[in-house]
This record gives sequence, C-alpha cells and structure tokens, in this order.
Amino acid sequence: MVIVMAPDATADNIDALVELVTSAGGEAYVTRGVSRTIIGLVGDVERFQDLGLRAKPGVGDVLRISAPYKLVSRENHDSRTVVGVRGVPIGGENMTVIAGPCAVETPEQTLAAAHMAKAAGAALLRGGAYKPRTSPYAFQGLGEQGLRILSDVREETGMPIVTEVVDAADVDLVASYADMLQIGTRNMQNFALLQAAGDAGKPVLLKRGMSATIEEWLMAAEYIAQRGNLDIVLCERGIRTFEKATRNTLDISAVPVAQNLTHLPVIVDPSHSGGKRDLVLPLSRAAIAIGADGIIVDVHPSPETALCDGPQALVEEDLSVLRDVAGTLATLSGRTLTPAPARELADV
Ligand code: PEP
Ligand code: MN
Repeated sequence: MVIVMAPDATADNIDALVELVTSAGGEAYVTRGVSRTIIGLVGDVERFQDLGLRAKPGVGDVLRISAPYKLVSRENHDSRTVVGVRGVPIGGENMTVIAGPCAVETPEQTLAAAHMAKAAGAALLRGGAYKPRTSPYAFQGLGEQGLRILSDVREETGMPIVTEVVDAADVDLVASYADMLQIGTRNMQNFALLQAAGDAGKPVLLKRGMSATIEEWLMAAEYIAQRGNLDIVLCERGIRTFEKATRNTLDISAVPVAQNLTHLPVIVDPSHSGGKRDLVLPLSRAAIAIGADGIIVDVHPSPETALCDGPQALVEEDLSVLRDVAGTLATLSGRTLTPAPARELADV
C-alpha cells in the first residue's frame, strides 16, 4: 500500500503517519520527491485499511498495490489451476466444451441434448434443474426430478454434469447429484450461497454477475476459496451495457484480463451473451481464439418448443461446425480439445 501525500503536507503530517503505521505493526518507508512525498507501507494491508489513512491530515491519496483477493490471485500462485470435474480437466493446456440444454425438461429432451452435446465436442453436460428466472411466471425448473434425469443421462452417456444451484438451502441436495455446481449471474454476490457451495466439496462454475466488475467477480470467487475449495472455474457470460442488439455484451477482454489476475480457469458462455443462435458460433470462435479455457453452450433438440432460452440453442446442423471450430482453434492456440469421457465414469 502506498500513501501519496498532498503537495502541502507538512513534516509533522508525515511523522504522524509513520508513527501510526508502525504502532499498528507495519513498516513505513518515506520517499521525498520534488513536489510530493510518498510513504510505502509494508505489512498487513487489511489492518492498514482500518486506520482511516485517507482522512488523516496531509494525505492526498492511498493506493492499494496488492490484490484484495488472496487465494484466487496469481500473485502468490505461479502455476495455473486445472480443475477436474469427475476426471474431466478444465484449464491448463486443455480447451473444454460444456454443452446441453438451458433447462432439463424431460428425460427424452435431456438425453437427446446430451447426444447433441457430445457431437459438438463437449466433455461435460450442462442443464438446469433449478432455473433462476427473471419472471416468476416462467418455468422454474423441475427441481430434484430434474437432477434425477441428469443423473440418469450421465449413466447413459458417461458425461459428468454441471448444474445450477440457486439457493444455499439446496446446495447439499444439488451436490449429491451434480459433478459441478453452477452459480449463475444473478447470484454472483449471494455470499451465503457462495460459502455453502465452497463447503460442498464439488467444483464450482462461477458466472460473472451481469453488472459486476472483474474485481467483484474475483472477490466472489474468494468467498468460495475461503472455504477451502479452489476448484473454481470462472465464466464470462456477457454484461449489461446500452447495446440491445445482443442479449448481453460479451466482454471478451475479460478473459485475458481475468487470466492475468487469477490462476483459475476462465471460460466463456457465448449463448447467454449473444442470446441468438447465429451469434453463438462467431462468439465461440472469438472465445477460443482469445485463449478461453473453455466454452459453455446451449443445445436443444427442438428449440421452438424449449421451455427456456430456445432462440439461443444450437441445433443439429451446428454441432459438427462447433466441434471443428473448437478442435481447430484449440490446436492453433496451443491447446487440446478435452475429449468426451468414455462411458464408464471415473470414481468421484
Ligand atoms: C444458465 O446458464 O442457464 C444461466 C441461467 O446463465 P446466467 O446465470 O449466465 O444467466
Ligand atoms: Mn439459460
């Protein structure tokens, strides 16, 4: 942390700050410039933050140098984390495709979507049993019945499942079926839910809040990490902007920015960002080319009757294109497309 003194700061002001910082157990290093003095602080930043430094006489500004998130930061963690989802890796040299329906509707629809996901090159199956809908009148998901369908489809196809949990009270139940817990954009700052997910012993897919800064997103990940769970994958899913031509604005720059700040894998959701089928392949290309660790894509056997997000779901004829795009661009980016697991599931 650095204190930048105001140009009219006095020697007494500087001495008082040095005294305050040292009495709080820190060290203070004073550098006198031509017009301003700066004081570099070494020690417990959280403790310094409680000292009210900004309000002290002669202080111009106080700058935090180290990241406020510790466990997910790259600062003390050189190697990139590879998260294993029941044996399927996300991160490192891998490029992992997750695909499936927005919502689990019926056993037949979910199984058909899982076959579509495999054809699209996916190694993991997504599908919501609990849906956080903007409208209380919209389909809210099948709940535990949906989890049972996902589990049957996992048996049938061998694909581990990624599914959303929307309430802290449901975490144990959802975790008893899921291989990875998804926390959606609307819940990114539901701190009780983040903590409960961190305690559940399953990897977590944390979507970026639609109005969250990258720092807020990483602070949310820190809540999960604090519970001893570093198996976290971040997902950029588009943010709210003035633009109405897309459902959300895909913040593609968030991928390298976040990857520079954290050791956690960062994937992209081109479906919930674009919101339209014809945007999903171009956005997927952009995501893989920029170095995302994966993509999560909606597919549906009959989008015209889908109970949720039909317009953005890929259909049969898109699947081989996506698989080819993912394989080719992953190779060009020095990565390997994670293969779909064999039908036999790895032990949990
Ligand atoms: C979803 O992936 O089904 C979903 C609801 O996404 P988001 O939280 O990004 O809107
Ligand atoms: Mn959706």
